[in-house]
Amino acid sequence: MNLLAGQMMQIPLLISHLITHAARHSGDTEIVSRRVEGDLHRTTWAEAELRARKLAQALARLGCQPGDRVGTLAWNGYRHLEIYYATSGSGLVCHTVNPRLFPQQIAWIINDAEDRVLCFDLNLLPLVEQLVVDVPKVKHFVLMADKDRMPAETKIPNLVCYEDLVAAEVGDYTWPDFDENTASSICYTSGTTGDPKGAVYTHRSTLLHSFASALPDSMNVRATDAVLPVVPMFHVNAWGLPYTMAMVGCKVVFPGPFLDGKSLYELMEAEQVTFSAGVPTVWLGLLNHVQTNGLKFSSFKSTVIGGAACPASMIQTFEDDYGVEVVHAWGMTELSPLGTLSRLRSKHLGLPEADRRALLARQGKVIYGIDMRIVDGDGNALPWDGVAFGDLEVRGHWVINRYFAHTNDPLHDGWFPTGDVATIDADGFMLITDRSKDVIKSGGEWISSIALENLAVAHPAVYQAAVISVAHPQWGERPLLTVVLKPGATATREELLAFYEGKLPRWQIPNDVVFLPELPHTATGKIQKLKLRAAFKDHTWPQG
Ligand code: ADP
Repeated sequence: MNLLAGQMMQIPLLISHLITHAARHSGDTEIVSRRVEGDLHRTTWAEAELRARKLAQALARLGCQPGDRVGTLAWNGYRHLEIYYATSGSGLVCHTVNPRLFPQQIAWIINDAEDRVLCFDLNLLPLVEQLVVDVPKVKHFVLMADKDRMPAETKIPNLVCYEDLVAAEVGDYTWPDFDENTASSICYTSGTTGDPKGAVYTHRSTLLHSFASALPDSMNVRATDAVLPVVPMFHVNAWGLPYTMAMVGCKVVFPGPFLDGKSLYELMEAEQVTFSAGVPTVWLGLLNHVQTNGLKFSSFKSTVIGGAACPASMIQTFEDDYGVEVVHAWGMTELSPLGTLSRLRSKHLGLPEADRRALLARQGKVIYGIDMRIVDGDGNALPWDGVAFGDLEVRGHWVINRYFAHTNDPLHDGWFPTGDVATIDADGFMLITDRSKDVIKSGGEWISSIALENLAVAHPAVYQAAVISVAHPQWGERPLLTVVLKPGATATREELLAFYEGKLPRWQIPNDVVFLPELPHTATGKIQKLKLRAAFKDHTWPQG
């Protein structure tokens, strides 16, 4: 082909550009953090950028070379944000590690990524002291605290104070230019199947993801917003919010490790938060707090809920009782993470209320930049008719094509197999019916555990629900409903099963109910079905 060369500037898409943009155009916009110490800290985008430059100098002085990994074990806060930019901006790789994992898992992940430096929050000092002997390749340990908080004695060799590092530099540093395909950060999947695997994002993939996430039909984050990222910065880069917030120059409110309903509510009110994003479990705690105390939100306008299926009843409560718009989103670590969001098309605006709600409870349409398909067991594409369900596969600008340090190709014909099972309707609305390993196969039919859970939590006495498949002599597998009731509420097995009548075909209704004081959760706040399945694998089904 004889193509005509374009004549536009070639400027690499680099993460440092985000923070220099925020500092220049929204320099006095605030970044407020609830610190581990309990107090509230206030800084600005301009100050964060300057401190990130100083930290980049300090990391170079510690001997970090381009491409080196800098690990973090930290909550959402301004120092963590500075590390994000100091590392990626200077050609290092930011490796966020989930402090809620078991110490052996944490050590395994740090060793796999070969982190050279490890930065951590004050309340994680005992954890790091515990794992220090297991991470021999870490050369420097940085405590993210003020100088007067440094321990007098510690088992950690080479422990340095973050504030000392920053204070020792003047910040006369120019963010370097390099190839936009350079690695910027690494996040590990939670390893629900086998060892955790690292997804290595690039500067380019991160910037394109940020453009897409800020769009009105995506997260719709604007300069006038005050954004509280509930989703942790150690979980898929807080769904990209640290980058998106810099891109749009909004106010930032970091909650630290305090994610209970009361702490979140008070911070949201005090700082007039307008937008937030997180997993359903956290919102359950917040809703519970406002409901029990008869409170209202004075500034909170919209939220993106994802990471696990958001029940329709939660969307309804937020909208009807509190005037908060809920956008249901689906994604995963391997997708940076955004894939789909529940946003209407104009043809849906006149829909009857119930239909509109049903549509918005789905995981939604892909954002531009991602493509999806569903395939059967032989890899054949299935129709988009809202009925056929199959393995969900995706491709796009911010989808991995390989895992860190793995040589095998995880793709299937150029598509990334997500491990989720879904339907897609003619309008492109995707509905996750299950993770493939959670599907219930009953007498040759598949039953969606998510559909059963969403209905169960709509019952007024039910706080949380999880449906698992348990072996059944006649049907192969049958659904077992496990529930946690709301404090003080009562409900019988029969009442809960009767609640399904008329809402689902009878053969899909669970055969039994187990009442539990709480459900097991993973380190990222999802219900641990693996544990539940193990606990109830020998469950005795009632007769009849
Ligand atoms: P991990 O895979 O390590 O548990 P991820 O955050 O990457 O952590 O999890 C991605 C998975 O979470 C998806 O593959 C899907 O199963 C589930 N998930 C994410 N968002 C939703 C959603 N809105 N509805 C249902 N499941 C979801």
